[in-house]
Amino acid sequence: MKIAELEQRLREQGLKLTRPRQAVLEVLSRSGSRLSPAEIHRQGRRSYRRLGLVTVYRTLALLEEMGLVQRVHTETGCHSFAGVRSPEGHHHQLICKDCGRVEEFSDCASEQLLAKLQKETGFAVEDHRLEVIGCCPKCQ
Ligand SMILES: [Zn+2]
Ligand SMILES: [Zn+2]
Repeated sequence: MKIAELEQRLREQGLKLTRPRQAVLEVLSRSGSRLSPAEIHRQGRRSYRRLGLVTVYRTLALLEEMGLVQRVHTETGCHSFAGVRSPEGHHHQLICKDCGRVEEFSDCASEQLLAKLQKETGFAVEDHRLEVIGCCPKCQ
């Protein structure tokens, strides 16, 4: 997403595109890979020297809530984050386990499975998460 578009989205929520928020968003949109909060902090400080780690965490939580960044899991059990390219609609992520590259895909085929699960378990399914882990063409 372009910075202007992001700014518009924040404004719709009554929020400003502050320097720390801009720094975090720039790092994520530039990278195309999942990044840990510490890595976002490190890179973000190149454009905004006063960026603090606590601010990075807070900003990530806000942006996640707005659907602008996606939390992804890592092998170590920690979380890292990736920028969302198309915040509209339903999509999932394909993550390269070697370089951390993240691709989005939207043709999720879970509908049938979820319908079956609801029937079998009596659960009222509200949401689902799906992360596909693999090895990208470059890393193979
Ligand atoms: Zn890769
Ligand atoms: Zn899905």
